[in-house]
Amino acid sequence: MDAKHIFRDAKDGCRWQDVDLLAYKEDGAAPFKAITRQVLFAEPELACELRYFEMAAGGYSTLERHEHAHGVMILRGHGTCLVGGHVRPVKPHDLVAIPPMTWHQFRAGGEAPMGFLCMVNARRDKPQLPTAEELAALKADPAIAAFLDGQFQ
Ligand code: MN
Repeated sequence: MDAKHIFRDAKDGCRWQDVDLLAYKEDGAAPFKAITRQVLFAEPELACELRYFEMAAGGYSTLERHEHAHGVMILRGHGTCLVGGHVRPVKPHDLVAIPPMTWHQFRAGGEAPMGFLCMVNARRDKPQLPTAEELAALKADPAIAAFLDGQFQ
């Protein structure tokens, strides 16, 4: 690996040298809003990847679950996340563990962007979206219903 790839400079606004700003997911693949993706590490020698996701104010990631796990660190901004039956406000440098087959979603607050680092298995299964029945079961909890209806901004 040459020095050019070993060291990459940070730029302003949570961007990095030689890291492309990508769409979060393919359009229409799943519901999401105002979120971008940057892949920071995806070397074949690693069993994991490290990505940086950023949501504009009011943006949110897909509500999903899957067999693979995530390790998340909030890097900038404030917002709220859902992990399983838990709804929690999050702030810079908070850590969030997302276990396998656990519903999860991140929502930025209404004032500013929120960005987070997300570690994920290199080999991973496709995320599942909730069925209408699963969504109704989640919304049986008033705190989760309020979160999913976007009242935590
Ligand atoms: Mn996920």
